Amino acid sequence: AAMNRHFISVIAGGFGTGGGTPAAAGAAQPAGEVVAISAPDTAELLREAKNVIIVPGYGMAVAQAQHTVYEITRLLREKGVNVRFGIHPVAGRMPGHMNVLLAEAKVPYDIVQEMDELNDDFPQTDVAMVIGANDIVNPGAQDDPTSPIAGMPVLEVWKSKTSIVMKRSMASGYAGVDNPLFYKENNRMLFGDAKKMLDEVLVALKA
Ligand code: NDP
Repeated sequence: AAMNRHFISVIAGGFGTGGGTPAAAGAAQPAGEVVAISAPDTAELLREAKNVIIVPGYGMAVAQAQHTVYEITRLLREKGVNVRFGIHPVAGRMPGHMNVLLAEAKVPYDIVQEMDELNDDFPQTDVAMVIGANDIVNPGAQDDPTSPIAGMPVLEVWKSKTSIVMKRSMASGYAGVDNPLFYKENNRMLFGDAKKMLDEVLVALKA
């Protein structure tokens, strides 16, 4: 029930937006140092992983990266890596946004799971790949009662061994709030357009 309430308030523009207009990107203040990672090093981490959870967000839709995501998933599964997708109920910009894109890319339904189905599995996950998502993986929603998104359920990617966040910059997402995930010791930033960077990851995986 709590989830439904959040879901509806988000559709109405409830979280951090003060009434439906997206906050200006880049409003976030720097809160520490981030560590960047290259596409080949990302491929190496994925290749060595047993368990991978991919968390797609609005940026995957912008980049139209879903087909490359599928290619990477297929390759990793052929190598015996357990790859699943974690879908937040408000990922993207409309209900079911990610499910539609992943279905279009022919990602098998049985590895696409709702947040509640796999949120407890991050501690057993080697790599959590965040593809153009931001607000839905913000630990501040749990830790910081003053956060505009305080109380919003989030995917706990920071509990995995390594989280990798793919986005173009340090800009904030829809809610316009800084994301402490980026500064965590076990987090890496793969900067760039999600499609371009995933193409590079795919090339490295095939090499
Ligand atoms: P966010 O808006 O929080 O974050 C998306 C991130 O994608 C941005 O920070 C941006 O960073 C990155 N991005 C944009 N373009 C690209 C690109 N080409 N390549 C790589 N990254 C890119 O999205 P989430 O999906 O995490 O969360 C959804 C948000 O939308 C929530 O706040 C939710 O409340 C709200 N919302 C959801 C609705 C729904 O029904 N699903 C409806 C209305 C609002 P950068 O600019 O650095 O690349």
